[in-house]
Amino acid sequence: MRTTPDLRNADPDDEAPLLAAIDRWCAKEVKPIARQYDHADRYPTQTVEQMKELGLFGATIAAEYGGLGLPSSTYAKIVMRISRDWMAITGIFNSHLMLALAIQKFGTKAQKEAWLPRLAKGEVRGGLALTEPDAGTDLQAIRTTARRQADGSYLINGTKTWISNGIEGSCFALLVKTNPDAQPRYKGMSLFIAPKWPGFTVGRKLEKLGYKSIDSGELVFDGYRLSADHLIGGVEGQGFIQATGGLELGRINVAARGVGVAEGALQLATEYAQVRKTFGKPICEHQAIQLKLGDMATRARAARLLTLDAAAAFDRGERCDMEAGMAKYFASEAALENSIESLRIHGGYGYSKEFDVERLYRDAPLMCIGEGTNEMQRIIIAKQWIKRNPQQ
Ligand SMILES: Cc1cc2nc3c(=O)[nH]c(=O)nc-3n(C[C@H](O)[C@H](O)[C@H](O)COP(=O)(O)OP(=O)(O)OC[C@H]3O[C@@H](n4cnc5c(N)ncnc54)[C@H](O)[C@@H]3O)c2cc1C
Repeated sequence: MRTTPDLRNADPDDEAPLLAAIDRWCAKEVKPIARQYDHADRYPTQTVEQMKELGLFGATIAAEYGGLGLPSSTYAKIVMRISRDWMAITGIFNSHLMLALAIQKFGTKAQKEAWLPRLAKGEVRGGLALTEPDAGTDLQAIRTTARRQADGSYLINGTKTWISNGIEGSCFALLVKTNPDAQPRYKGMSLFIAPKWPGFTVGRKLEKLGYKSIDSGELVFDGYRLSADHLIGGVEGQGFIQATGGLELGRINVAARGVGVAEGALQLATEYAQVRKTFGKPICEHQAIQLKLGDMATRARAARLLTLDAAAAFDRGERCDMEAGMAKYFASEAALENSIESLRIHGGYGYSKEFDVERLYRDAPLMCIGEGTNEMQRIIIAKQWIKRNPQQ
C-alpha cells in the first residue's frame, strides 16, 4: 500500500501542489527518523522505497521515459526542502540522476530506451564513478583503462573511490581511459554504463565525518567486461565531455543542498533563540545573537536566490557555468557558516547528539568538496567573468 503521494500525477507546470506533497512527506516520514538513522549510519531502505513511490528517481528524466521531467528550478526547490530536514538522502537520487542525465544527454536511442525507464522507476539505481584514489579534481589523470578486445567488447581494470551509492547501487556511469596515451589527455577518455556483474566488486565502505546513511564506496574493476553497446554515445573519446557535461546541473543540485542546510540551521537557531532564556530574556533579544541571526538569514536568502537564478538560466538553455559555480560556492559556504553559527547559538546543547544541529554541522563541509571543490569554483567563476568582460 502506498504511504506517499505519487508526483507522477502532478502537473509539472504547477509546482505548488508538488512542493506541498514533498513538505508533507518530509514532516511525516523524513524529519522524525533522520537523527536515528544518521547516528547509526544505517541505509534508509524504507525511505528509498518512498522516494521510488514519489517518483524522485525519475525527477529530471523526460516524461517519455517515465520520469517526471521536472525543470531544474522545481527540482532544486525539492532538494532544498528535503535537505532542510536531512541532506544526505538527497544524494541517493541526486547522484543517480547524474547517471541518468549522462544517458539522456549523450546516450544512443537504444541506450536511452534500455536504461532510462528502469532508472526512472528506481528499479536500477546508481551514480557517477569518476574519482580515483589518485585523481579527483584532476580527472584527466585517472588510470582505469578499458581495452577494446578482438570481439569488440571492452576489458576494464582499475579502482574508483568515494562513489556515492557505490554499495547499494547496481549501475554506474564509469569514466575510463580507452586511450591512455592520447594527447590532450581528455581525448582518450570514455564513459560507460557499468552494471554490477562479475569483475565489478565493492572494495570497502568508506567511513565519513557526516553525510551518513548514504553509502560511499570504493569500486574495484578487475577483468570486468562490457559489450560495446555500453559505451555511452557509441563513440570513444567523448567521456570527459560527457562526464563534465552534467556539471552545471550537478552544481545547481549541490547548491540546492547547501541552501537546505543553511535554511535548516537557521530554522533550528530561530526556534531555539526564542525559547532559551538568559539574564531574564530570550537569547534572540541579546544583540550578539541578533547579529548572528541577521547574518544567517541574509546568507540563506542570498544562497536561495543565487541557486534559483542559476537554475532559471539552465532551464532557459543558457550557458550557466559561472552562475552555477557562484551558486554552488556561495550556498555551500553558507551551509557551513550557518551550521556553525547555529551550533554556537545552541550553546552546550549544540554539541549534544540529542539535537539535530550537530548533524548539519557534520554534513555541511561535503558540499564545499563535491561537484568541484570551492577552490576550483572560484577559479571557474573568475575565468568566465574575465571572458564575459574583456578589456576593450
Ligand atoms: C562524501 C563524498 C562523496 C563523493 N561522491 C562522489 C561520487 O559519487 N562520484 C565521484 O566520482 N566522486 C565523488 N566524490 C569525490 C569528489 O568529487 C572529490 O573528492 C573531489 O572532486 C576532490 O577531489 P580529491 O578529493 O581528489 O581532492 P584533490 O583533487 O586532491 O584536491 C585537494 C585540494 O587541492 C585543491 N586543488 C586541486 N587542484 C587545484 C588547482 N588546480 N588549483 C587550486 N586548488 C586545487 C582542491 O581544491 C583541494 O582543496 C565524493 C567525495 C566525497 C567526500
